[in-house]
Amino acid sequence: MEKSKLPVTFNKNYKPRPTLLRDRIVLVTGAGDGIGRSCAKAFAKHGATVILLGRTVRKLERVYDDINSTGGPQPAIYPMDLLGAKASDYHDLACRILREYGRIDGIVHNAALLGALMPIEHYDLKMWSEVIHVNLTAPMMLTQACLSLLRLSQDASVIFTSSGVGRQGRAYWGAYAVSKFATEGFMQVLADETDNSAIRVNCINPGAVRTRMRASAYPAENPQSLISPDEVMNPYLYLMGPDSNAISGTSIDAQ
Ligand code: NDP
Repeated sequence: MEKSKLPVTFNKNYKPRPTLLRDRIVLVTGAGDGIGRSCAKAFAKHGATVILLGRTVRKLERVYDDINSTGGPQPAIYPMDLLGAKASDYHDLACRILREYGRIDGIVHNAALLGALMPIEHYDLKMWSEVIHVNLTAPMMLTQACLSLLRLSQDASVIFTSSGVGRQGRAYWGAYAVSKFATEGFMQVLADETDNSAIRVNCINPGAVRTRMRASAYPAENPQSLISPDEVMNPYLYLMGPDSNAISGTSIDAQ
């Protein structure tokens, strides 16, 4: 299938059908909180079996219970700290997914660290490495380990999470902003490499959303002035489901 890399404006009237993701196997990183939690629940509600990857098991268990209690397909919990995970851990994860499900139809690279908001002059080097690792290198390692599984899908979708500061640099956003610029670049490289395949690769910039990360970036902001993670799910569903089949290499704004 020929894919379009033209910039896409998300159609705000898009209505995902209830069975959009039926029989799909989708992995979400950072699935225990914020936007990742909403993705996991929204994907399950639309029929997907969701692999909940994250570092805080108690949060993942809550999402697992929520999905079960609403009658969604039974999810799976995969505890993993992206900061410490090695190539062999990603290889083990891919082997487990292959054994359990035989393929993977989608990945949402959602987990991220904010790091600190401070001038480059004072930016702590250890924090710099950690933010770049969790936000950029870990999604690369996970993607690399899962590419052969994505190729076993009829149409697979890989979604990276970008940010406004990954499009236009902003003072004090340091490693976080740089990691999001690099995420956009990585997405484009991978989209080009998978152009002649059934795999599509895109970015979403969720925009300002009421989460823990947003609150730590903007402590003085009234959280009630922001939309909730559940309210930005339609663009994620669109990119994860077959309606976006012909779109790859683009970055869309959820708001
Ligand atoms: P949250 O802080 O609410 O959620 C981040 C998730 O990532 C948490 O589940 C967290 O786990 C997980 N995580 C962090 N570090 C690791 C790690 N080392 N290993 C595994 N999981 C980890 O943030 P948001 O929901 O706001 O952010 C989701 C995505 O959206 C991020 O990529 C962010 O950059 C992006 N974004 C968000 C915006 C917003 O306004 N909220 C705006 C633009 C982009 P735990 O719960 O255990 O800490």
